[in-house]
Amino acid sequence: MPQSADQIKDHIPLFKEPEYQEMFARKKAAFENCHADARVAEIADWTKSWDYREKNLAREALVVNPQKACQPLGALFAAAGFDGTLGYVHGSQGCAAYFRSHLSRHFKEASSVVSDSMTEDAAVFGGLNNMVEGLANAYTLYKPKMIAVCTTCMAEVIGDDLQAFIATAKQKGSVPEGFRVPYAHTPSFVGSHTTGYDNMMKGILSAFWEGKTRTPNESINIIPGFDGYSVGNVRELKRVLKLMDVDATILSDTSDVYDTPTDGEFRMYAGGTTEEEAIGALNAKATLSLSGGCTPQTLKYIEEQGQETVAFTYPMGLGATDDFLMTLSRLTGKPIPKDLAMERGRLVDAIADSMSWLHGKKFAVYGDPDFTYAMVRFLMEMGAEPTHVLCTNTTKKWEADIAELLASSPFGASAQVWPGRDLWHLRSILATEPADFLIGNSYGKYIEKDLGIPLIRLTFPIFDRHHHHRFPTMFYQGGLRVLVTILDKVFDHLDASSDISFDLTR
Ligand code: SF4
Repeated sequence: MPQSADQIKDHIPLFKEPEYQEMFARKKAAFENCHADARVAEIADWTKSWDYREKNLAREALVVNPQKACQPLGALFAAAGFDGTLGYVHGSQGCAAYFRSHLSRHFKEASSVVSDSMTEDAAVFGGLNNMVEGLANAYTLYKPKMIAVCTTCMAEVIGDDLQAFIATAKQKGSVPEGFRVPYAHTPSFVGSHTTGYDNMMKGILSAFWEGKTRTPNESINIIPGFDGYSVGNVRELKRVLKLMDVDATILSDTSDVYDTPTDGEFRMYAGGTTEEEAIGALNAKATLSLSGGCTPQTLKYIEEQGQETVAFTYPMGLGATDDFLMTLSRLTGKPIPKDLAMERGRLVDAIADSMSWLHGKKFAVYGDPDFTYAMVRFLMEMGAEPTHVLCTNTTKKWEADIAELLASSPFGASAQVWPGRDLWHLRSILATEPADFLIGNSYGKYIEKDLGIPLIRLTFPIFDRHHHHRFPTMFYQGGLRVLVTILDKVFDHLDASSDISFDLTR
């Protein structure tokens, strides 16, 4: 074998060894049943043509690499932000493995979720027995303070009734009668992870607030929303709140559970919104959602309790942070402190320093509705041109909002918006009408390799780079981080592209 204990080879030089190369060639010839390389290249070229693009954009019955995940993923993320809460999947074990691996690969952190492993018999007779046994096992083995139940496609197709199942399980003694088991039906054939987040958040708040009378006070609640940068962003939010001297309750704080230290102790549960905070949140004056696309039903429910609600679209960059801070100031009566004004000025200064390198650069952006909206807004603040904006899990509201945003700046004049499209569409679009850079998640790396358009990773999921989620992208400090991330890629690309401008100083 080319690998040996005396000389450990990394995987690239290892797989270039003749032994492996011969094995790959034998496998290709014997099992892969390939077309000739020339024919493959010919078809690959054709898939970059206008002719193929028209066929691809006419596609209706197939989705290829959609920029969304299914509802339970968002539901489990929302549940993970509450103290001592165990996410519970009523349905297939494989689905739970997908949710856990998706979160673990992004956060590089264990993601604890259980499943009641419905199989063929449950698919025929219903999953009540699975729920009765599953809740008992989860409660006994993992000792949570709360179990938050969501469903997979299978449980939804056969119509399992979570409310009735949980009530029966409590009657049978699976968990104590007073133990909280909030739930959310999360059918994955509609909506996306953002819908699942919304459904679970509403389910959890209902479990804490039902039967209680609201006694209004002056406090504020903040819901972060589904955010792959939640570790950095929630910590940055707390710092901003401290500077503002605002005492706010964060509803679903995932900043600790997805960032536990290595110190010899395994923490199945870490941090999160406590029971006392969640119950007390009913009395708040207002609830702010940092990601309104993740919380429409939740905010409606909160309004019905008598609170004012305000929905933001991921406060990243200058204007979006201004909007958030001014709303916070209005609601609390607290002025925006000098420190934050200085941070704003520094971000303006940094943008002004670098604007000439971004002016006129064309960007394609893809991802969730709120992320794409925020990214487009910030790009235009920096003098860049968003030329393609693609969102799979879109809404009519997003389409109207993004059209209005693009119309508000000359930098948006050449933008094309692609609602409901997937990454295979984006490949065709960029092959025929290229952008200079691509902004999205790790899935765009195939387009980067195929079309040579550099990818800037700035949203969930990021599987192939490490630790981005530890740094904020929101507010003024997060804006600096985003600016630097974009600039680094622009300069790296410039240095690699040509000797004409291979300069020491930029
Ligand atoms: S789409 Fe349905 S089957 Fe697939 S992982 Fe999600 S819940 Fe499971």
